[in-house]
Amino acid sequence: MAAQASCSAKQLSQLDQAARVAGRRASSAHVANTTAAATWFGAYNARRYQTIAGNFKKIAAATSRLTYNCVRACKGYSDRTYAYAIKPYGVTICPPFWNIEKNGGYYSKPFGLVHETSHLVADTGDIYGEEESKKLAKTDPAKAAQNADNYAYFSASAQ
Ligand SMILES: [Zn+2]
Repeated sequence: MAAQASCSAKQLSQLDQAARVAGRRASSAHVANTTAAATWFGAYNARRYQTIAGNFKKIAAATSRLTYNCVRACKGYSDRTYAYAIKPYGVTICPPFWNIEKNGGYYSKPFGLVHETSHLVADTGDIYGEEESKKLAKTDPAKAAQNADNYAYFSASAQ
């Protein structure tokens, strides 16, 4: 992790911890013919699942390379935006990030970093939310395989 002057030492240590958990979750993501995988990525399909597993590997590797920019406001983004990604490995941290759960499952800091990192290394899109992600898995699994929240939810669901 590269330290950035814009983040305090305390913020950086939280980010570092969250990135470690995110990396662990991504590297242990078990993308196989299981109910959990089907919930977030649709019915088993060898080729698609292989792509997803490959993306998790890329996410895991990238979590240790992230650089952070902690800002006081994220202009042009919604009040709920906790972060946004800037290639190749940048993550701008918006104020709401500090209020999300430290280390839990859904909607936690590691969840957020898996989400952002998937944008960086897998060009994922943004359809938000648990129900929307589950719906996507059922109705459009190819799109679920290209959606940041589906990666974040799956990586958190196995915890
Ligand atoms: Zn996003």
